[in-house]
Amino acid sequence: MKTWIFWSVLALAASAQPVIEGERIRAHLKHLAGDEFEGRGTGQPGGDRAADYIAEQFRSYGLETSFQEVPLVGVSTLPTSTFTLAGRPLKSGDDYVVNNQSQEARVTIDAPIVFVGFGIQTPDWDDYKGLDLKGKVALVFVNEPESQDPGFFKGRALTYPGRWTYKFEETARHGAVATLIIHRTDLAAYGWEVVRNSWNSEKSYLKREGGPALQAAAWIHYDVAGWLVGKDGLTLEQLYQESQLRDFQPRALTSRLQVRLDSRLRPFSSRNVIARKAAGPEAVMYSAHYDHLGIRPEEKPDGIYNGALDNASGCAILLELARVFASTAPKRSLYFVSTTAEEQGLLGAAYFAQHPPLPLKQISLDLNFDMVPPWGEPEEVTANGCERTTFHGEVLQEAAHLGLKLAPDPAPEAGLYYRMDHFSLAQGGVPSFSVGEGLKFRGQPLAYGIELANDYTRRCYHQAADEFQESWDFQGLARFTRFAYNLGWRAANQDKLVQWRPGDEFEAARLK
Ligand SMILES: [Zn+2]
Repeated sequence: MKTWIFWSVLALAASAQPVIEGERIRAHLKHLAGDEFEGRGTGQPGGDRAADYIAEQFRSYGLETSFQEVPLVGVSTLPTSTFTLAGRPLKSGDDYVVNNQSQEARVTIDAPIVFVGFGIQTPDWDDYKGLDLKGKVALVFVNEPESQDPGFFKGRALTYPGRWTYKFEETARHGAVATLIIHRTDLAAYGWEVVRNSWNSEKSYLKREGGPALQAAAWIHYDVAGWLVGKDGLTLEQLYQESQLRDFQPRALTSRLQVRLDSRLRPFSSRNVIARKAAGPEAVMYSAHYDHLGIRPEEKPDGIYNGALDNASGCAILLELARVFASTAPKRSLYFVSTTAEEQGLLGAAYFAQHPPLPLKQISLDLNFDMVPPWGEPEEVTANGCERTTFHGEVLQEAAHLGLKLAPDPAPEAGLYYRMDHFSLAQGGVPSFSVGEGLKFRGQPLAYGIELANDYTRRCYHQAADEFQESWDFQGLARFTRFAYNLGWRAANQDKLVQWRPGDEFEAARLK
C-alpha cells in the first residue's frame, strides 16, 4: 500500500498534473479583496497585511519565502512653486503639470529650451544627433514617428520609446534638467483632464540610487506649446512633420524656462514577497502585484478600493500555482513573486529587476498576471508579447492542447505591454509577458464577455466598486490556471532558456 502511494506520488510529479482547485483560488481572491485589507495601499497597513497573508500562504506550502524591502519616496509639488515659460507665468493644472524626479525639496531652473522631436534614441533612430542637453530643457512630442511598416517602430503598435515615461528617462540620460512633453490628445490617447488628474497628487518613485533624473518632469498643454513655438515663428504642425524625418535636427528655441519647484518628500517603504521552489540554478518566474489603491475616505460607498480583479485575482492564481508547484520536481527553480507599488508605476517589479535574488540572465521567463476575471470557462487566452520570444510556439501548443484560442492584442497602439509588471523584467532582459483571458467564454456569445468588460471598465476599474462577486466562476479560472501552470512547467523543464527573438527591442538587455 505504502509503495503504491509512493509510486503514484512520483507519477504525479513526472506527469506534472497536480489538481488545480478553483475553490482555493476563490478563497484567496475573496480574502484579499476583503475590507480588512483596506484596498492594499502601498505603504499602508492594509497593504502590509496583504503581503503578510501572501507570505504565510507561501510558507504553508513549504516554499522558501522572504520579503524584499522596497524603498520609496512620495513627491508632491507644493503650491508655492512657480513655472514661467518665455516670461509668462503658467497656471498649474490648466497649462502644465510638473513633478520633481530628482527627489530634492527645492530646485530653481533657468534654462534654454530645445525642441528634440520625439526625444528618441534607439539603434534605428536618433533625434539628438549628438546634442548634449546638459543644463537645458527638452521639449518633445509624446508617441513616436508614424508607421504602417512592422519593421519600423512596429507599425501601428506603440513601442516603448513612444511612452511618456521613456521621454523623461531618455532626455534625463541626455543631461536635461527639465522636460516638457507636449500634450496632443490623439498622440497621448487621452485628454488633458487625464494628465491633470493623474498629476495633481503625490507621485511615488523608487528612492534614487544615483543615475540621471529630471528636476522638472512636466507636461504642457498643446495650446501653451503652440504659443511657445510661435515666438520663434514656428507651428506645432510644422514641427510634428519635421519629427517624422530620419534627418530631423534638434531646434534651439529663443525662449527660456524659469522654474522654482518646492516639493514635499515623503520617504516610505513597502515589500515584495518572494517564494522559491528550489531546483537548479536557472529559474522560471511567476508574478502578480498585490497592491491596489488603498482607501479614499471621501469616496462612496466605503472608500475602500478592494481591487478584486485588480489584482487579487492575479495573486489568487499565483498562490494556487505556488501550492501545486511545491509538490512537483521541475528541472529549474520556480520563483513566485508578489510585487508591491504596481499602481504607483510598476515600482516593486522595477526594484526586483534592479535587485534580483538571482542573476536576471538565469531567469528563463516571467509570466505575469494582472486582472484575470472569473467570468466563466475561457475559450480564449492572451499572452501579448509572447510573439517577441522564442516561447511563442510553446504558448500556441499549450493553448491548442487545452482547446484554447490565443486571442490577439485588441489595441497594439495602446502599448499595454509597457504598462504591466512584466515590462520591468523585460527592461532587465528577461523574456516576459502577462497571461490573461480573452472575451469568449464557453456557452456564452462573445457579446457576454464584451459587455462584462465594458461594464467593468466603466463602473469598477480603479474604483471602489471593484469588489468580489459570489456569482463568479472559479472552475473557469482553474482552467485558465491550468494553462498558466503548463506554460511554467514547460519553461522549467525545456532544454534551453527562453530568449527574445533577434531584433526585439529587449534583446540587447538580455545579451548585455
Ligand atoms: Zn491597476
